[in-house]
Amino acid sequence: MIRRWLSRFMMGRYGTDILSLVLLCTALVLSLVGQFSRLWIFLLLSYVPLAYAIFRTLSRQTAKRYAENQKFLSWFRGIKNWFSRKKARSKDTDHCFIKCPGCHQTLRLPKGKGRITITCPKCRTSFVRKV
Ligand SMILES: [Zn+2]
Repeated sequence: MIRRWLSRFMMGRYGTDILSLVLLCTALVLSLVGQFSRLWIFLLLSYVPLAYAIFRTLSRQTAKRYAENQKFLSWFRGIKNWFSRKKARSKDTDHCFIKCPGCHQTLRLPKGKGRITITCPKCRTSFVRKV
């Protein structure tokens, strides 16, 4: 009975996705922080992601919600890639990473070569740096 009512109620609505789960987890963490620190602002703030997660789950504009989720996933992938790049660079002790002053492209250079003239392969800017 309730199950049938719920499935009819949810018909045409977006439902849950990764972004909604992340919002719910954020709300949970904020409310726990609020409980333990006894700062009411965290408790109040925890309602924002909670309300947004409920809004998204019940929304009938599925294309918009899907686009939001895709945007979130690509943003999250960018952060994940940034961390994995940092981790890989910290393991690479034979090279140093310098940004080109012309185009801000990161260049991988061998360490311990002293003062060298570097020519950026992307924009052909030459600059002198100690590596
Ligand atoms: Zn450059």
